[in-house]
Amino acid sequence: MNNIPFVDLKAQYHSIKKELDISIQNVINETAFIKGKYVQKFEEEYAEAYGVKHVVTCANGTDAIYITLKALGIGPDDEVITTALSWISTSETITQTGARVVFVDIDPDYYTIDPAKIEEKITEKTKAIIPVHLYGHPANMSKIMEIAKKHNLKVIEDCAQAHFAKWKGQNVGTIGNAGTFSFFPGKNLGAYGDAGCIVTNDDELAVKARMFANHGALKKHFHEFEGINSRLDGLQAAILSVKLKYINEWTALRIQNASTFTELISDIPGIVTPVTHEDAKHVFHLYVIRCESRDELQKHLKENRVSSGIHYPTALPYLKSYGYLKHVPDDFPIAYQYSREILSLPMYPELDEKTISAITNSLYSFY
Ligand SMILES: *Cc1c(COP(=O)(O)O)cnc(C)c1O
Repeated sequence: MNNIPFVDLKAQYHSIKKELDISIQNVINETAFIKGKYVQKFEEEYAEAYGVKHVVTCANGTDAIYITLKALGIGPDDEVITTALSWISTSETITQTGARVVFVDIDPDYYTIDPAKIEEKITEKTKAIIPVHLYGHPANMSKIMEIAKKHNLKVIEDCAQAHFAKWKGQNVGTIGNAGTFSFFPGKNLGAYGDAGCIVTNDDELAVKARMFANHGALKKHFHEFEGINSRLDGLQAAILSVKLKYINEWTALRIQNASTFTELISDIPGIVTPVTHEDAKHVFHLYVIRCESRDELQKHLKENRVSSGIHYPTALPYLKSYGYLKHVPDDFPIAYQYSREILSLPMYPELDEKTISAITNSLYSFY
């Protein structure tokens, strides 16, 4: 049997190759390389599909968070609260503004920031919360918004793993002050290089973000403040416009694959399958189980040519980069424990039933 990949970007390319090749050629024919008509077109299409007033594209999902924090005026002396379990982009961008990162443990069922543990971390310096819709499962936005209102905090939703996920029927990213997206190739909506965007219904925030990402200017040579260079290029925009047409179909397939996995493996003792909150639409960027003897299982899967991943092997507060915060395991017991148990199985829309059963058979043969 062939190797089972973790994601299969080739299969997706081949399913829409003709359309993509034409769109790429068009950009080159028109030399619309940076910003320009294809970028504007994608911004309009994403805003329409997302049901949001403004889409500000930028170079990647990390910049999207940084730009939003800067546009909200967050900087030195401020504190920003975020989850203990995420990719480092979520927290490093807080530090980059000069603010201090304050971590909160995760919810034991849904792996997103635990709203019950947020308030105890709020101080006079707290300015914002960054919930992450981890693995494609929305954080509890009802409770987070309630806390944010009470304490007058901004909310930036990190939607890098959660394109078109919903909380109580509303698209994530449109509930807080802004949502940030990554279009890294392996994300649910992925470009063929780095790309990202910010979505918001706040006019002023949109303008500031657009300016900050473009050297502090809306118009060439009219720099109102210093910013950065974080632009989307035309090729990525054109590719994203094509792929956007298929996102609903691909999301439905991810959800279907996830439910097939759960059906097949939830009975295996030693494995905990993912659960979805009743108010959430989970878009399964990742299908993450918790398991006994995780490292041995991963080795066994590898011997059976099944790829897998760990998201993430070290919870953020315990990375060397945050050694200065001097956290101990008891500070974030759930994130600490789960980072030793989680395993991400292959997940992509093109995964077929035969492949899923090959993966689940390898799980059975281990336990
Ligand atoms: C991928 C990711 C990012 C960063 O996106 P890039 O486009 O790689 O910069 C930020 N947050 C989370 C949760 C992510 O998964």
